Amino acid sequence: MNDCLFCKIIAGEIPSTKVYEDDSVLAFRDINPQAPVHILVIPKTHIASIADITPENSGVIAHISEVIAHIAREQGLNEGFRVCTNTGAHGCQSVKHLHFHLLGGRQLSERLG
Ligand code: AMP
Repeated sequence: MNDCLFCKIIAGEIPSTKVYEDDSVLAFRDINPQAPVHILVIPKTHIASIADITPENSGVIAHISEVIAHIAREQGLNEGFRVCTNTGAHGCQSVKHLHFHLLGGRQLSERLG
């Protein structure tokens, strides 16, 4: 996807603060952090959002879950953390490449919506 910001980050065309990378997943710090730890975890394959997950591509979601658990341990988020993926207009998704926000490092608000 030529015009996708996160595909450009994956390709190294736009810099990012990388915290984890393997063959199928990249994680980097959010440029506008909402918590002391705010990391975005993304598949390297362009998938627009979680609404586009199918039986054919859902394997990467299981892998991302493992990566999130690994990063959370590494970041010392022993007291807990939040994972969310904004989807579509009502979900306020601004970047149309599937990403999971990993937020932690302080007591988070009870409000989700
Ligand atoms: P969302 O609003 O759920 O689509 O989240 C997109 C996130 O990407 C926001 O939290 C932005 O701060 C973050 N973001 C946008 N551009 C960059 C960038 N170049 N590097 C890191 N994070 C970014």
